[in-house]
Amino acid sequence: MSSHHSESFDTNDSHSTHTPNRRSKVWEYFEPELVDVDGVMKAFCKYCGSKLTTRNKSGTNSLQNHIAEYCPKISVEVRNRFLATMKKPLDGPFTFNPKRSRDLMVKWCISAEIPLNKFQDKNFEPWMESLQPTFSCVGRQTIRNDCISMFEETKRDLRTELQNLDSRICFTSDLWTSNQNLGYICFTAHYIGPDFVLKKKIIAFRDVKYSHTGVAIEEAITKCMADFGVKEKFTITLDNASNNMAA
Ligand SMILES: [Zn+2]
Repeated sequence: MSSHHSESFDTNDSHSTHTPNRRSKVWEYFEPELVDVDGVMKAFCKYCGSKLTTRNKSGTNSLQNHIAEYCPKISVEVRNRFLATMKKPLDGPFTFNPKRSRDLMVKWCISAEIPLNKFQDKNFEPWMESLQPTFSCVGRQTIRNDCISMFEETKRDLRTELQNLDSRICFTSDLWTSNQNLGYICFTAHYIGPDFVLKKKIIAFRDVKYSHTGVAIEEAITKCMADFGVKEKFTITLDNASNNMAA
């Protein structure tokens, strides 16, 4: 590699080049050449003449903040034009869909394990209103009901999927005793889906009568299979505890 070549491609060192990487739109608001201030190359604001430190690769945050908020000389129109270019482009005109927003909120609430009373936090509603004034915030009871409906719906879909499978289903199961001496059973289905991808779904996580006798285990497993309408083409694998053998 010639020395000329390496110099023109080196963008990491601000001393090696006077021409910054101009991928960001913010550069339109600064002079094309960086200026040397006591050995440090700085960007020169076209409007107020402020000299701002920047790194060539990605350090345009300070420049963006300057144009978006701090520059004392920039006009409102120019500032708004800049803010508009910084927004994420939309696929088309945005239409608010309250049902979709609510479903997404419930989904997030479940996956992030949000306690339902957080929806009654005094700062929640103002936040939502700032994003979409027509979105009506619902109480925790409604969110709770929505969560349960989503669970039921997902369970129904999974039930249909399991019943219509061409492949065999392999179940595995295990038991725990909580520190309050409560027994739990977890039941997992492993199968090849219609898209030929191996799937693993926990289809039940429920309490089971303590103690974990063979009868209690057998009862829990049968109930779960009946719940999902699985009658044939399956195997069950358990560990070699004696109660499992009895079940
Ligand atoms: Zn400025």
